Amino acid sequence: MTPESDDSAPGPVSGDEVPRTSPLEVLAQIGDLDVRLDQIIHHVRNLPEREIRAAIEAELGVLASEAKVLDAQIADLERQQRKHEDEVARIEAKRAHNSERLYGSHLTSPKEAEALTAEADALGRHQTDIEDQILELMEELEPLTDARADLAQRQSSAAGRMATVDAAIGAAESEAGGERDEVLDERAALVASADPALVSIYEDRLAAARGTPVLGRLIGLTCSACHLEIPSVDYERITNLDPDELAECPHCGALLVR
Ligand SMILES: [Zn+2]
Repeated sequence: MTPESDDSAPGPVSGDEVPRTSPLEVLAQIGDLDVRLDQIIHHVRNLPEREIRAAIEAELGVLASEAKVLDAQIADLERQQRKHEDEVARIEAKRAHNSERLYGSHLTSPKEAEALTAEADALGRHQTDIEDQILELMEELEPLTDARADLAQRQSSAAGRMATVDAAIGAAESEAGGERDEVLDERAALVASADPALVSIYEDRLAAARGTPVLGRLIGLTCSACHLEIPSVDYERITNLDPDELAECPHCGALLVR
Protein backbone atom coordinates (compact mmCIF):
# COMPACT_ATOMS: atom_id res chain seq x y z
CA MET A 1 0.00 0.00 0.00
CA THR A 2 1.52 3.34 -1.05
CA PRO A 3 0.90 6.48 1.04
CA GLU A 4 -0.97 8.25 -1.79
CA SER A 5 -3.47 5.39 -2.30
CA ASP A 6 -6.12 6.85 0.02
CA ASP A 7 -9.66 7.15 -1.29
CA SER A 8 -10.20 10.86 -0.72
CA ALA A 9 -9.42 11.78 -4.33
CA PRO A 10 -9.41 9.88 -7.61
CA GLY A 11 -5.82 11.04 -8.37
CA PRO A 12 -3.52 9.28 -10.77
CA VAL A 13 -3.54 5.51 -10.49
CA SER A 14 -0.24 3.85 -9.90
CA GLY A 15 0.92 0.31 -10.68
CA ASP A 16 -1.75 -2.34 -11.33
CA GLU A 17 -4.28 -0.86 -8.90
CA VAL A 18 -7.87 -1.05 -10.15
CA PRO A 19 -8.90 2.48 -11.18
CA ARG A 20 -11.67 3.92 -9.04
CA THR A 21 -14.85 4.39 -11.06
CA SER A 22 -15.80 8.06 -10.97
CA PRO A 23 -19.05 8.83 -9.09
CA LEU A 24 -20.58 10.20 -12.28
CA GLU A 25 -19.61 7.04 -14.15
CA VAL A 26 -21.41 4.94 -11.48
CA LEU A 27 -24.43 7.19 -12.00
CA ALA A 28 -24.18 6.65 -15.74
CA GLN A 29 -24.15 2.88 -15.20
CA ILE A 30 -27.26 3.19 -13.00
CA GLY A 31 -28.80 5.26 -15.81
CA ASP A 32 -27.97 2.52 -18.33
CA LEU A 33 -29.68 -0.06 -16.11
CA ASP A 34 -32.75 2.19 -15.81
CA VAL A 35 -32.89 2.38 -19.60
CA ARG A 36 -32.75 -1.43 -19.68
CA LEU A 37 -35.56 -1.65 -17.11
CA ASP A 38 -37.68 0.65 -19.29
CA GLN A 39 -36.90 -1.51 -22.32
CA ILE A 40 -37.92 -4.67 -20.45
CA ILE A 41 -41.23 -3.09 -19.38
CA HIS A 42 -41.83 -1.76 -22.90
CA HIS A 43 -41.04 -5.18 -24.40
CA VAL A 44 -43.49 -6.99 -22.09
CA ARG A 45 -46.23 -4.41 -22.65
CA ASN A 46 -45.87 -4.56 -26.42
CA LEU A 47 -45.45 -8.28 -27.00
CA PRO A 48 -46.82 -9.13 -30.47
CA GLU A 49 -48.82 -11.91 -28.76
CA ARG A 50 -50.94 -9.26 -27.03
CA GLU A 51 -52.31 -8.11 -30.39
CA ILE A 52 -52.96 -11.72 -31.39
CA ARG A 53 -54.68 -12.26 -28.06
CA ALA A 54 -56.90 -9.20 -28.56
CA ALA A 55 -57.86 -10.47 -32.03
CA ILE A 56 -58.77 -13.91 -30.65
CA GLU A 57 -60.72 -12.26 -27.84
CA ALA A 58 -62.71 -10.26 -30.41
CA GLU A 59 -63.23 -13.43 -32.47
CA LEU A 60 -64.51 -15.29 -29.39
CA GLY A 61 -66.87 -12.39 -28.69
CA VAL A 62 -68.35 -12.57 -32.20
CA LEU A 63 -68.67 -16.38 -31.97
CA ALA A 64 -70.38 -16.07 -28.59
CA SER A 65 -72.98 -13.64 -29.99
CA GLU A 66 -73.58 -15.92 -32.96
CA ALA A 67 -73.98 -18.86 -30.57
CA LYS A 68 -76.44 -16.90 -28.44
CA VAL A 69 -78.67 -16.19 -31.46
CA LEU A 70 -78.47 -19.80 -32.67
CA ASP A 71 -79.13 -21.23 -29.20
CA ALA A 72 -82.25 -19.06 -28.88
CA GLN A 73 -83.53 -20.20 -32.30
CA ILE A 74 -82.81 -23.86 -31.49
CA ALA A 75 -84.44 -23.61 -28.06
CA ASP A 76 -87.54 -22.04 -29.60
CA LEU A 77 -87.90 -24.78 -32.24
CA GLU A 78 -87.26 -27.50 -29.64
CA ARG A 79 -89.93 -25.99 -27.39
CA GLN A 80 -92.43 -26.13 -30.28
CA GLN A 81 -91.37 -29.70 -31.03
CA ARG A 82 -91.86 -30.78 -27.40
CA LYS A 83 -95.28 -29.09 -27.35
CA HIS A 84 -96.30 -31.06 -30.48
CA GLU A 85 -94.90 -34.30 -29.09
CA ASP A 86 -96.91 -33.82 -25.90
CA GLU A 87 -99.97 -33.22 -28.04
CA VAL A 88 -99.29 -36.45 -29.99
CA ALA A 89 -98.97 -38.33 -26.70
CA ARG A 90 -102.32 -36.93 -25.54
CA ILE A 91 -103.96 -37.93 -28.86
CA GLU A 92 -102.49 -41.42 -28.65
CA ALA A 93 -103.80 -41.84 -25.11
CA LYS A 94 -107.24 -40.72 -26.24
CA ARG A 95 -107.16 -43.06 -29.25
CA ALA A 96 -106.16 -45.97 -27.03
CA HIS A 97 -109.02 -45.15 -24.66
CA ASN A 98 -111.42 -44.95 -27.62
CA SER A 99 -110.44 -48.28 -29.10
CA GLU A 100 -110.73 -49.86 -25.68
CA ARG A 101 -114.32 -48.64 -25.58
CA LEU A 102 -114.93 -49.51 -29.23
CA TYR A 103 -113.64 -53.07 -28.97
CA GLY A 104 -114.52 -53.63 -25.35
CA SER A 105 -117.89 -54.71 -24.11
CA HIS A 106 -119.19 -51.37 -22.83
CA LEU A 107 -120.91 -50.16 -26.00
CA THR A 108 -124.62 -49.50 -25.54
CA SER A 109 -125.62 -48.69 -29.15
CA PRO A 110 -124.39 -48.82 -32.77
CA LYS A 111 -124.71 -45.01 -32.75
CA GLU A 112 -122.14 -44.81 -29.99
CA ALA A 113 -119.84 -47.11 -32.03
CA GLU A 114 -120.31 -44.84 -35.06
CA ALA A 115 -119.48 -41.75 -33.03
CA LEU A 116 -116.40 -43.38 -31.55
CA THR A 117 -115.19 -44.47 -35.02
CA ALA A 118 -115.70 -40.96 -36.39
CA GLU A 119 -113.81 -39.49 -33.46
CA ALA A 120 -110.99 -42.03 -33.94
CA ASP A 121 -110.69 -40.99 -37.59
CA ALA A 122 -110.60 -37.30 -36.68
CA LEU A 123 -107.98 -37.96 -33.98
CA GLY A 124 -105.91 -39.93 -36.48
CA ARG A 125 -105.99 -37.08 -39.00
CA HIS A 126 -105.11 -34.55 -36.30
CA GLN A 127 -102.20 -36.70 -35.18
CA THR A 128 -100.89 -36.97 -38.76
CA ASP A 129 -101.09 -33.16 -39.10
CA ILE A 130 -99.12 -32.63 -35.91
CA GLU A 131 -96.57 -35.28 -36.84
CA ASP A 132 -96.07 -33.51 -40.17
CA GLN A 133 -95.45 -30.29 -38.27
CA ILE A 134 -92.93 -32.12 -36.07
CA LEU A 135 -91.11 -33.31 -39.20
CA GLU A 136 -91.07 -29.75 -40.55
CA LEU A 137 -89.64 -28.49 -37.25
CA MET A 138 -86.98 -31.19 -37.32
CA GLU A 139 -86.04 -30.20 -40.87
CA GLU A 140 -85.80 -26.61 -39.75
CA LEU A 141 -83.70 -27.60 -36.74
CA GLU A 142 -81.15 -29.70 -38.61
CA PRO A 143 -79.19 -26.90 -40.34
CA LEU A 144 -79.28 -24.88 -37.13
CA THR A 145 -77.82 -27.67 -35.00
CA ASP A 146 -75.22 -28.30 -37.72
CA ALA A 147 -74.30 -24.61 -37.65
CA ARG A 148 -74.17 -24.72 -33.85
CA ALA A 149 -71.80 -27.71 -33.91
CA ASP A 150 -69.62 -25.92 -36.44
CA LEU A 151 -69.64 -22.84 -34.24
CA ALA A 152 -68.69 -24.90 -31.19
CA GLN A 153 -65.73 -26.25 -33.11
CA ARG A 154 -64.63 -22.73 -34.08
CA GLN A 155 -65.04 -21.64 -30.45
CA SER A 156 -62.94 -24.54 -29.25
CA SER A 157 -60.24 -23.83 -31.85
CA ALA A 158 -60.13 -20.16 -30.85
CA ALA A 159 -59.97 -21.12 -27.18
CA GLY A 160 -57.06 -23.43 -27.99
CA ARG A 161 -55.22 -20.65 -29.82
CA MET A 162 -55.95 -18.35 -26.88
CA ALA A 163 -54.40 -20.85 -24.46
CA THR A 164 -51.27 -21.08 -26.64
CA VAL A 165 -50.95 -17.29 -26.80
CA ASP A 166 -51.56 -16.97 -23.05
CA ALA A 167 -48.82 -19.52 -22.40
CA ALA A 168 -46.45 -17.57 -24.66
CA ILE A 169 -47.31 -14.31 -22.87
CA GLY A 170 -46.84 -15.99 -19.50
CA ALA A 171 -43.44 -17.34 -20.54
CA ALA A 172 -42.32 -13.95 -21.89
CA GLU A 173 -43.53 -12.21 -18.72
CA SER A 174 -41.74 -14.66 -16.51
CA GLU A 175 -38.53 -14.35 -18.54
CA ALA A 176 -38.77 -10.56 -18.41
CA GLY A 177 -39.44 -10.77 -14.67
CA GLY A 178 -36.25 -12.76 -14.18
CA GLU A 179 -34.29 -10.30 -16.30
CA ARG A 180 -35.79 -7.35 -14.39
CA ASP A 181 -34.81 -8.93 -11.04
CA GLU A 182 -31.21 -9.37 -12.27
CA VAL A 183 -31.05 -5.75 -13.40
CA LEU A 184 -32.57 -4.58 -10.11
CA ASP A 185 -29.94 -6.56 -8.15
CA GLU A 186 -27.21 -5.05 -10.29
CA ARG A 187 -28.72 -1.60 -9.80
CA ALA A 188 -28.97 -2.03 -6.02
CA ALA A 189 -25.28 -3.00 -5.92
CA LEU A 190 -24.36 0.08 -7.96
CA VAL A 191 -26.53 2.35 -5.80
CA ALA A 192 -24.81 0.94 -2.70
CA SER A 193 -21.43 1.90 -4.15
CA ALA A 194 -22.57 5.28 -5.48
CA ASP A 195 -22.51 8.72 -3.91
CA PRO A 196 -25.94 8.91 -2.21
CA ALA A 197 -26.24 12.66 -2.88
CA LEU A 198 -25.66 12.07 -6.60
CA VAL A 199 -28.13 9.19 -6.69
CA SER A 200 -30.71 11.36 -5.01
CA ILE A 201 -30.14 14.21 -7.52
CA TYR A 202 -30.41 11.71 -10.37
CA GLU A 203 -33.59 10.13 -9.02
CA ASP A 204 -35.24 13.51 -8.37
CA ARG A 205 -34.45 14.54 -11.94
CA LEU A 206 -35.69 11.19 -13.22
CA ALA A 207 -39.00 11.59 -11.38
CA ALA A 208 -39.47 15.08 -12.84
CA ALA A 209 -38.20 14.22 -16.32
CA ARG A 210 -41.26 12.47 -17.79
CA GLY A 211 -39.32 10.61 -20.43
CA THR A 212 -36.74 13.25 -21.31
CA PRO A 213 -33.12 12.15 -20.81
CA VAL A 214 -31.58 12.81 -17.43
CA LEU A 215 -28.06 11.59 -18.10
CA GLY A 216 -25.84 11.86 -21.13
CA ARG A 217 -22.29 10.87 -21.89
CA LEU A 218 -19.97 13.38 -23.44
CA ILE A 219 -18.65 11.57 -26.49
CA GLY A 220 -16.18 13.81 -28.21
CA LEU A 221 -18.09 17.09 -28.44
CA THR A 222 -21.50 15.39 -28.57
CA CYS A 223 -24.04 14.78 -25.79
CA SER A 224 -25.26 11.17 -26.07
CA ALA A 225 -28.69 12.12 -24.68
CA CYS A 226 -29.66 14.65 -27.37
CA HIS A 227 -26.95 13.86 -29.96
CA LEU A 228 -26.18 17.57 -30.32
CA GLU A 229 -22.70 19.03 -30.40
CA ILE A 230 -21.79 21.13 -27.42
CA PRO A 231 -20.46 24.62 -28.26
CA SER A 232 -16.70 24.68 -27.84
CA VAL A 233 -16.84 27.35 -25.15
CA ASP A 234 -19.13 25.12 -23.01
CA TYR A 235 -17.02 22.11 -23.84
CA GLU A 236 -13.89 23.91 -22.56
CA ARG A 237 -15.63 24.90 -19.34
CA ILE A 238 -17.14 21.43 -18.73
CA THR A 239 -13.95 19.49 -19.38
CA ASN A 240 -12.03 21.83 -17.05
CA LEU A 241 -14.40 21.18 -14.16
CA ASP A 242 -13.41 18.95 -11.26
CA PRO A 243 -14.34 15.37 -12.32
CA ASP A 244 -16.98 15.09 -9.57
CA GLU A 245 -18.60 18.41 -10.34
CA LEU A 246 -21.96 18.32 -12.09
CA ALA A 247 -22.41 19.80 -15.53
CA GLU A 248 -25.47 19.92 -17.73
CA CYS A 249 -25.77 19.65 -21.47
CA PRO A 250 -26.61 23.21 -22.65
CA HIS A 251 -29.13 21.73 -25.14
CA CYS A 252 -31.13 19.09 -23.27
CA GLY A 253 -30.14 19.69 -19.66
CA ALA A 254 -28.93 16.11 -19.11
CA LEU A 255 -26.22 15.64 -16.51
CA LEU A 256 -23.08 15.04 -18.51
CA VAL A 257 -20.84 12.10 -17.68
CA ARG A 258 -17.31 12.73 -18.94
ZN1 LIG B 1 -27.86 16.93 -24.54
